[in-house]
Amino acid sequence: MTAATGSGARDEHVIVVGAGLVGSLLACYLGRRGYAVDVYERRPDPRSTEAERGRSINLALSERGLDALRRIDQVETVMAPALPMHGRAIHGQDGSVTFQSYSAHGDRAINSIGRGALNETLLDAAEATPGVRLHFSTRIAAYDLPTNTLTVEQEGEQVPVSGDIVLASDGFGSVVRQSLESLGRVSVVTDMLDFGYKELTIPAVDGDFALDPDALHIWPRGASMMIALPNPDKSFTCTLFWPKTGEGSFDAFITQQDIIEHFTSVYPDAFPLMPSLVADFQYNPVGLLATVHSDPWQVDGKVGLIGDAAHAILPFFGQGANCGFEDVVELDRCLAEVGDDWALALPMYQERRRVNAEAIAQLAKENFVEMRDKVGSKTFLATRKLEHALEKLLPGTYLSRYEMVSFTTIPYSEVIERSRNQQRLLAVATGGAVLAMATFATTVLRRLTGADDE
Ligand SMILES: Cc1cc2nc3c(=O)[nH]c(=O)nc-3n(C[C@H](O)[C@H](O)[C@H](O)COP(=O)(O)OP(=O)(O)OC[C@H]3O[C@@H](n4cnc5c(N)ncnc54)[C@H](O)[C@@H]3O)c2cc1C
Repeated sequence: MTAATGSGARDEHVIVVGAGLVGSLLACYLGRRGYAVDVYERRPDPRSTEAERGRSINLALSERGLDALRRIDQVETVMAPALPMHGRAIHGQDGSVTFQSYSAHGDRAINSIGRGALNETLLDAAEATPGVRLHFSTRIAAYDLPTNTLTVEQEGEQVPVSGDIVLASDGFGSVVRQSLESLGRVSVVTDMLDFGYKELTIPAVDGDFALDPDALHIWPRGASMMIALPNPDKSFTCTLFWPKTGEGSFDAFITQQDIIEHFTSVYPDAFPLMPSLVADFQYNPVGLLATVHSDPWQVDGKVGLIGDAAHAILPFFGQGANCGFEDVVELDRCLAEVGDDWALALPMYQERRRVNAEAIAQLAKENFVEMRDKVGSKTFLATRKLEHALEKLLPGTYLSRYEMVSFTTIPYSEVIERSRNQQRLLAVATGGAVLAMATFATTVLRRLTGADDE
């Protein structure tokens, strides 16, 4: 196969494996830098085919993702159909609903975006970028490191394709990463979660949203949870996060009666809004959830891993794609800083991003416990109120962890550091307040009992 012609500004021919969210954005950035880019995607062109049933339909896009899109003038197109969600709506098992705003002033929102629409916008943008060529229905079957050659499968044929640089954005099960792992050049630890996910639907009712569209809805149930995000067609996509086996797992509810009984008692307000519940539950697949830690992310300055291929994380902070988009921005920044010397840029990109991917992986894991267990508790609500009060009192100085992750581009590793320091301050302040109250109470008590007169 021949290489893309490129805009002619750079000598290197870059191959991108995978035209998912990160690969298509990456192609836009590289094309704009003047590279000839060939992108190989195993699926057919999603712009001319139907979406797969039951695979994560929408996702939450926040500041990091928007920042990456802004830099290539795509934010307006992407955001046109987006639905802002200004807070969480917590659904109790008694049918109660409590709204918690994400930011102190209630003005900041994360955005529900159709995954397919986002991918298609980025594919359009990549295709319109001089130097970028997209190849669909082309699966990469193998990768050879010494020659930087990929084996492309297309219509039963296997064709070798070489590039000066290979960038793997082929997701969680990356073939390129596996190949580097088998050579002992990359070490990979896959941390599988005991929970899986399944998607269900709440359709529009009389042409309108059945729930508040301005919120990310959560049904926290201790050992499991359900969430729902709004779609432009006024439906909601619900995602169950349940144990894979044992009590309360997907396997535990097989018959129509089991499913209906469970949803009536555990999700009483959602159940009547889900007319296709039984069919969705029985036929939609259970997706796997895992964290992938790989090291290094590049080999010999000629092949690199990016997005989920480098660092799949759990979805509980809504940051996987946002983080992958930040990878692209950072790689572009590194190339600019070293005059497009890939042998310098790839190690620099890895050095700067790996620590941050590890940080968001940890935060995402912690957020699962928060979402399924704590968000409904009085202590959590009180802490959020206190945090919002501090954010108003100390604007720009005190920022909650959620705010830093979702509404800024503060590196994730710094978010951990800063929120640790803030927690310490909060503990001291709370301790101080408790001490002051105790002293006050003792004084009043002594006065009332006349103990002061002794
Ligand atoms: C339930 C769930 C909810 C999520 N919610 C959010 C959210 O709210 N916000 C957020 O930011 N992130 C979210 N994520 C994470 C997000 O979906 C991923 O981080 C993101 O899709 C990663 O993009 P990627 O391009 O790196 O990988 P992928 O999206 O997996 O894309 C990889 C691409 O490579 C192609 N490919 C794979 N193998 C080959 C091959 N051998 N040859 C050619 N092509 C290949 C695939 O077909 C695919 O198109 C969620 C994930 C899940 C599972």
